Amino acid sequence: MTASYTCQDCIDLLLDYVDGALPGELKSRLEEHLEGCQPCEDFLKTYSVTMPVCRKAMARQMPESVATKLHQFLREEIGKDSVGH
Ligand SMILES: [Zn+2]
Repeated sequence: MTASYTCQDCIDLLLDYVDGALPGELKSRLEEHLEGCQPCEDFLKTYSVTMPVCRKAMARQMPESVATKLHQFLREEIGKDSVGH
């Protein structure tokens, strides 16, 4: 079964995707979803912008709780946007 990804799946994969660490098959499936899903595309853009900032912060040892909260916040944001799509 090749069901396309849900928005939630995509969020879980985006970190690896932005990192370039996503295997080819997952990557193309993710890109497939992104093409048809505006909220996720916007999320990816935001994420790409946010990631370098996060990395810098992490280099200064961002507490894990902060990183978790940030991730949670982003999840909730995309969750709101994707309602009813
Ligand atoms: Zn989506």
